[in-house]
Amino acid sequence: MLKDEDRIFTNIYGMHDRTLKGAQARGHWDGTAGIIKKGRDWIIDTMKASGLRGRGGAGFPTGLKWSFMPKESDGRPAYLVVNADESEPGTCKDREIMRHDPHTLIEGCLIASFAMNAHACYIYLRGEYIREREALQAAIDECYDAGLLGKNAAKSGWDFDLYLHHGAGAYICGEETALLESLEGKKGMPRMKPPFPAGAGLYGCPTTVNNVESIAVAPTILRRGADWFAGFGRENNAGTKLFAISGHVNNPCVVEEAMSITFEELIDKHCGGIRGGWDNLLAVIPGGSSVPCVRGEKMKDAIMDFDYLRGELGSGLGTAAVIVMDKQTDIIKAIWRLAKFYKHESCGQCTPCREGTGWMMRVMERLVKGEASVEEIDMLWDVTKQVEGHTICALGDAAAWPIQGLIRNFRDVIEDRVKTKRPAVAAK
Ligand code: SF4
Repeated sequence: MLKDEDRIFTNIYGMHDRTLKGAQARGHWDGTAGIIKKGRDWIIDTMKASGLRGRGGAGFPTGLKWSFMPKESDGRPAYLVVNADESEPGTCKDREIMRHDPHTLIEGCLIASFAMNAHACYIYLRGEYIREREALQAAIDECYDAGLLGKNAAKSGWDFDLYLHHGAGAYICGEETALLESLEGKKGMPRMKPPFPAGAGLYGCPTTVNNVESIAVAPTILRRGADWFAGFGRENNAGTKLFAISGHVNNPCVVEEAMSITFEELIDKHCGGIRGGWDNLLAVIPGGSSVPCVRGEKMKDAIMDFDYLRGELGSGLGTAAVIVMDKQTDIIKAIWRLAKFYKHESCGQCTPCREGTGWMMRVMERLVKGEASVEEIDMLWDVTKQVEGHTICALGDAAAWPIQGLIRNFRDVIEDRVKTKRPAVAAK
């Protein structure tokens, strides 16, 4: 189990003082100017050496992403944009940072922006996060008053402004280019790539979009060293990570743990075990609603990191939002509910997603009721394959994968439902 002294988030449960004074007493904002004075190259090299992979779901190496930003300005400003849109069903980790430990994020914004030559950073916050906005804004105001933001921020010699932008509650605005569109005041619709944001992002200027957790862990990594962070987890899966466990465990929680912890240890140590015991485990969605579900018996020994979940189980770590389902769950209905969500959130600009999400949802609806034929299972699989990889943004994949996971892992349950034409017994 991760030791307390190795936790980056020292107030994730809001038990301590969350003001600037409290954060400083816990070691945040310590030597920030000194870190900045070590220079851009040192910061980016240290981030690369730490092995941090983006915490927003895709797992792209953070230091490498920062290095894509132009070293010299061609006259255009550069921007850091923090994706705080956290809308993936099951995912609820960034909100804990913002409402209880906001100074980790604000300090990270300053350092990361400096490393990417940005004098301004925008945090794009999910529309529903009202209390989080209040907490974060209060923390930002405190920092301005204390001289940690603004001109010569934290006496580093770098002028830096941080803006909080509140979204209107559309899931698709968590997609980085839709987020930029929305931030510019337009409809939140994903852009075609290329150009990538590092070349032409916000207002056509070089931009990096990073997840809240990826930015919030940066100052501690830079203070404690790349080797310290890289010492947790398996190779290529370094660091500590916030896991958000929900569903049928005895104590659902958000907890910071070392990467590559086993699923069993995570659940037994932090969540008080599976409701009804391990034999009652039916399925797990290990990384937020868009990754395929996995059968319970395969999960017990699973290693919770990017490479294991993808390579060995055909699923993914995603945002590490672990959704646990016990045998009371109607798994077909659970996945139908996700299909309904993605249909509702499709922005509609590409045909396979606009039409495919509705098509998939309707077939899923019939499967739930046992009204479809067995052949339709294969037809549904085909449709998921025609949506996957054929759309502008990853929402198409996100809609297809849960259904693929269901068919791959629970075909017997679907066939049984169809054959016996039993109406679903919904999990209450
Ligand atoms: Fe919009 Fe869906 Fe296309 Fe993404 S995949 S751009 S959400 S229609």
